[in-house]
Amino acid sequence: MTDSFDLTDPGTRSYGALGFETIAIHAGQEPDATTGAVVPPIYATSTYKQDGVGGTRGGYEYSRTANPTRAALEECLAAMEWGNRAFAFASGMAAEDCLLRTLCQPGDHVLIPADAYGGTFRLFDKVLKPWGLDYTPVDQSDTGAVRDALRERKTAVVWTETPTNPLLNVTDLAAMADAAHDNGAKLVVDNTFASPYLQQPLPLGADAVVHSTTKYLGGHSDVVGGAVVVRDPGLADEIGFHQNATGAVAGPFDAWLTLRGMKTLAVRMDRHCANAVAVAGMLTGHPAVSQVYYPGLPGHPGHKVAASQMRLFGGMVSFRLKAGADRAVDVCGRTRLFTLGESLGGVESLIEHPGRMTHASVAGSALEVPDDLVRLSVGIEDAADLVDDLRQALS
Ligand SMILES: *Cc1c(COP(=O)(O)O)cnc(C)c1O
Repeated sequence: MTDSFDLTDPGTRSYGALGFETIAIHAGQEPDATTGAVVPPIYATSTYKQDGVGGTRGGYEYSRTANPTRAALEECLAAMEWGNRAFAFASGMAAEDCLLRTLCQPGDHVLIPADAYGGTFRLFDKVLKPWGLDYTPVDQSDTGAVRDALRERKTAVVWTETPTNPLLNVTDLAAMADAAHDNGAKLVVDNTFASPYLQQPLPLGADAVVHSTTKYLGGHSDVVGGAVVVRDPGLADEIGFHQNATGAVAGPFDAWLTLRGMKTLAVRMDRHCANAVAVAGMLTGHPAVSQVYYPGLPGHPGHKVAASQMRLFGGMVSFRLKAGADRAVDVCGRTRLFTLGESLGGVESLIEHPGRMTHASVAGSALEVPDDLVRLSVGIEDAADLVDDLRQALS
């Protein structure tokens, strides 16, 4: 922990005046006090010597509760999202589960996006529903529809993703925060697709941000992790309690890898976004393609809102094939640089068929995705090589 960053007051913290790229490299990452190591060490320890009973050094007593490597990651995440406190978990799903069981009681009701991430939908449908948490999917690109749903039924949490996975629908976050707060609900934003470099939901009014740090934050497809970031100190204490009580924390090795990835988030995102623009542009004019989903395209229904709340439009592009599902599956098997695989946000480009892969768990539900859809996670390779690879796969 450094004392240059006041974790309790967003108005007075000293990182406030610094740019995002500087925060990514310095927040929580002062040179090690004992050795001067420039990179926060991997504190591979489960417990800590106490100087007399209760005499902890810096509050460290047991690594489920707190670990210095994890603390460095959490401080950096909090600063990147303009929050006060962050909590690092073993996966994005562990972060979501912990946050929902902190915010909700059995008997509560939650609104979710009509095209929520498949794993999030499965958590609501198969784990939290039996626990007593009811949910309603709503098209959240339509603020009026969300307001109607909130008037209809008392709701504890509005769960939002923007841009959504895999259809890249865009939700107006400030409008969503107003709608939730006007109706006594809290707004949670899954900011995985945008990353905090492109979009910061807390200053727009969100109560909590969740991440799969597995994706852009880690950025190298070599670690699984999750995070929750909040501003309200009371809510932070409750999440901290649940994180420690349920225990799905990020281990020190994972925390270190994630933090290493985060240092380059800004430069990686700039290239992801530029490459995605090139890819979306080529696909838009391609005769085999019936529709391209990318918020950076002026014709995208969420383009204006995305332009107002995102720095750039992200690295994810989805498209549909005129010739149908078999052709979509076929294209996924023909690329040479785009690797066929689930996940996203790494430096290498990935291609997948959501209907049979990431979103198989929503088949037959209200959240089913078109079966002629292909999703790309556009990496940071040479843009012309990526465009050529897709062209040959489509030919
Ligand atoms: C991957 C993902 C998750 C789940 O995170 P894990 O780290 O895989 O547990 C949640 N939300 C979104 C949008 C994701 O892409």
